[in-house]
Amino acid sequence: MKRREFIALSAAAAAASAQAWRTASAEADAASSAQEIRPMDYPIIDTHVHFWDPDHLRYAWLDGSELLNRPYLPEDYTEAIGEVQVGGIVFVQAECRRDQAVDEAKWVAELCQRDPRIQATVAWAPLELGEGVRPTLDALAAIGNVHGIRRLLQAEPEPEFMLTDAFVEGTRLLPEYGMTFDFGVNRFQLEACAQLAAKCPEVRFILDHIGVPDIAGKQMEPWRTHLRALAALPNVYCKMSGVATAADRASWTRADVQPYMETVIEAFGFDRLAFGSDWPVMLLATKIPRWFGVVREVVASCSEAERRKLFVDTAVDFYRLPPA
Ligand SMILES: [Zn+2]
Repeated sequence: MKRREFIALSAAAAAASAQAWRTASAEADAASSAQEIRPMDYPIIDTHVHFWDPDHLRYAWLDGSELLNRPYLPEDYTEAIGEVQVGGIVFVQAECRRDQAVDEAKWVAELCQRDPRIQATVAWAPLELGEGVRPTLDALAAIGNVHGIRRLLQAEPEPEFMLTDAFVEGTRLLPEYGMTFDFGVNRFQLEACAQLAAKCPEVRFILDHIGVPDIAGKQMEPWRTHLRALAALPNVYCKMSGVATAADRASWTRADVQPYMETVIEAFGFDRLAFGSDWPVMLLATKIPRWFGVVREVVASCSEAERRKLFVDTAVDFYRLPPA
């Protein structure tokens, strides 16, 4: 079976075709080492970028990090991408103090004025308030650039936090505001993600960082089983981002991360998979040019249309960005 045909299969049929994908990727390995990967002839979209200025807003989680506890701004990103051409950026909220969430989105709107690459903001909102989240969603919608909400649910003390009636009620309001939902979760929460997504069929969800599998510990299960169950829901998308951070940060290689990336491609297909960097958090493990190069290598034998979905089209579709 050709990889192109394989990718065209639905998520439901994908599990049965796992062997075909593995065969195809073994061929791709041989192909990509034998032939140089051609440069991209269009700019890509990075669906997961953070900017922050600790002098402007309060980010308690940065306190312990020598690497990250400084301003990271669009000009730093420009330097960080090197030769990689980026045409669009999705800003994702960076866990400032919760009462500053609307201020954060306003600050990013100011950044957009001087850097039109920033095409959408994914902000923070207290969805656990149910209908009570409306004032925040109204304030965010008024800013004009907010296309989604993210919650870092891995930080919540209760694993079932996202399944409370009020959280479900708040999440169900998002389509009314034209907003999506980013799952900031770890591998232990994928079953809860699937339950929330099933309760909210009108909401479009995207899984950040492929659900953070234990790549460093070389564990595939139960992450793979739960990821496939999540991908079986048609309203759930996935970001090919943050992967190196889940591997051995000092010594990871493409061979370490590729099986996890292939599992994600197989489960979601390119219609529901979008490239992202997670800069600057990714700097704990890698840099943008290297991560971009690894993704390019993993999809080297896919069709040009498939690659374009991964690097551009799925992001435009999911976050309602201007046509690329
Ligand atoms: Zn991040």
